[in-house]
Amino acid sequence: MSETAVDRLRDIRARIRAAEAEAGRASGSVELVAVSKTFDADEIRPVLEAGQRVFGENRVQEAAAKWPGLRAEFAGVALHLIGPLQSNKAAEAVALFDVIETVDRDKIAREIAKEMARQGRRPRLLVQVDIGEEAQKAGIPPREAAGFVRRCRDEHGLAVEGLMCIPPVAEHPGPYFALLQTIAAQTGVERLSMGMSGDFERAVPFGATSVRVGSAIFGARPRP
Ligand SMILES: *Cc1c(COP(=O)(O)O)cnc(C)c1O
Repeated sequence: MSETAVDRLRDIRARIRAAEAEAGRASGSVELVAVSKTFDADEIRPVLEAGQRVFGENRVQEAAAKWPGLRAEFAGVALHLIGPLQSNKAAEAVALFDVIETVDRDKIAREIAKEMARQGRRPRLLVQVDIGEEAQKAGIPPREAAGFVRRCRDEHGLAVEGLMCIPPVAEHPGPYFALLQTIAAQTGVERLSMGMSGDFERAVPFGATSVRVGSAIFGARPRP
């Protein structure tokens, strides 16, 4: 690993561009979401100064503590919620995030819809799919994903832009990326959030439109 977070950011950007080229995809078609969870404002600031504007956080409370201050310093920040959302945090999540990637059940869809109407804010929405059908992971099971996206639209009035997944650890992610791509095609959504520090390059040929990279930029995390 290179020396600083900014060096590593540049390296990740170059690797994304190379993976796009290798997959025959347009340069810039894969967005980098820099996952800043567990890192404090002083560690995030240099990455903002280097021009990165899209960030991912997995906890509403932690993001609410860090990001209003950083947004006052840097214009044009887009914040993605990538962790599970509890319905009692829906109001705060809708107020704070530009993209919520973890819509995964009707109860939370209903709460988000209610808060969007109440606040007049419209964060972009992705549905999280439990692509490996792991009991401990959040997300809607693959076979229920298309129906859920339809209910989001027809019953909750929510426009879902795409799908997000976290493949099982210690398995080849390719088949899971391929499955998410297939579900997205069947469902008629265009955005695919998949690929993390260990496998983001492998998500690119399967159509990832964004990759979520944390430790490969910010370094190892002290807590999960
Ligand atoms: C933490 C996290 C990431 C980033 O993981 P790294 O392996 O550090 O890149 C990506 N997606 C989700 C949902 C996460 O919780």
